[in-house]
Amino acid sequence: MSYKNFPMVPRVIFGRGSFNQLNEILAPKRLSINAPFIYLVDDVFKNNSWLTSRIQLSYDDKLIFVSSKEEPKTSQVDALVEEIILLTKERPSGVIGIGGGTLLDLAKAVSIMLTNNGESKDYQGWDLVKNEGVYHVGIPTISGTGAEVSRTTVLTGPDRKLGINSDFTPFDQVILDSELTKDVPTDQWFYTGMDCYIHCVESLTGTYLNAFSQSYGDMALELCKEVFLNGELPEVESQEKLMMASWHGGMSIVYSQVGVAHALSYGLSYLLGTKHGIGNCIVFDQLEEFYPEGVKLFKEMKAKHNIELPKGICADLIDEQFDIMIDISLSLEPLWENALGKNWEKTITREKLRELYQKM
Ligand code: NAD
Ligand code: ZN
Repeated sequence: MSYKNFPMVPRVIFGRGSFNQLNEILAPKRLSINAPFIYLVDDVFKNNSWLTSRIQLSYDDKLIFVSSKEEPKTSQVDALVEEIILLTKERPSGVIGIGGGTLLDLAKAVSIMLTNNGESKDYQGWDLVKNEGVYHVGIPTISGTGAEVSRTTVLTGPDRKLGINSDFTPFDQVILDSELTKDVPTDQWFYTGMDCYIHCVESLTGTYLNAFSQSYGDMALELCKEVFLNGELPEVESQEKLMMASWHGGMSIVYSQVGVAHALSYGLSYLLGTKHGIGNCIVFDQLEEFYPEGVKLFKEMKAKHNIELPKGICADLIDEQFDIMIDISLSLEPLWENALGKNWEKTITREKLRELYQKM
């Protein structure tokens, strides 16, 4: 038995308003006046000087607004890297991702692809990255994915949706400022928050569970219940708790694995482009037989916050399309094995998956 030796984010700052310290954190990391900082910022902040006015652009620093309408793609990472190389005289001093899981994952992938040859699709998988990326900083503006702590950046490529999992993927610095999440719309708050809740359920009920994952999973689950289920928390407290739930949920899965909901929702997003948070909710709503307790609580939270999930998203699909989703889903073997054990293939047949997808 060989145990994983995985890296953690070495520096993190937590606190309301800590975003104001960004410039002072970055200053000593500047390699030269020709090696700029590249800020990748969710374009939801384009007309919001409240956030961007606090970013001090010096020398050749660039702020690039990126849309998170779609799931991040390998082609998008390659195009951003191309753009950055053309814009800059020297390899950048750092890449700073500001936004949700989409922007955080893009920043991680861009940082890696600035120092590794070829295309980002070549690195989808486990431990394929050869060189350390450029210094990269993650600043979440919505809580739930755990992308701020994880060792992966999930990308949709030409052939698959799969992460670049490597020791060079985690951020060098994270800034957790819950104030940045204050304007997240309620439905999106719920979808991304439920990603964290589902991480906990999948980790805590999985066969890969161990004391390390359980301790983080228990903590994150408790925080999710406080935020989504119990009485009304004061706004600031609720935002801070969800931010820490996301962190701990992410920590829980680095040393275990996700499960059935993620295996199925990757199929949805590969074929239909369904975004991760809402896709997980659509799938999880149908998974009583796998996660009876977890789904019961999920339905309570959904009702409490008046969330209406889209229905019938697979209603008009043809056989070939179901097959594509089923292939993607079945290829995620560690997720199934974590959820159901070594003999998962006995119960998870193509017919079974088709039946589940047809309910969504
Ligand atoms: P997201 O980044 O796609 O953003 C969702 C929406 O929220 C967008 O419309 C965005 O503009 C908006 N938004 C973000 N911050 C806001 C704010 N402060 N105010 C108002 N609107 C705001 O959503 P997400 O759920 O955080 O991330 C999903 C992505 O994360 C997926 O691509 C998924 O694959 C990835 N993911 C990665 C990991 C990992 O470990 N790397 C884990 C889970 C999910
Ligand atoms: Zn997830």
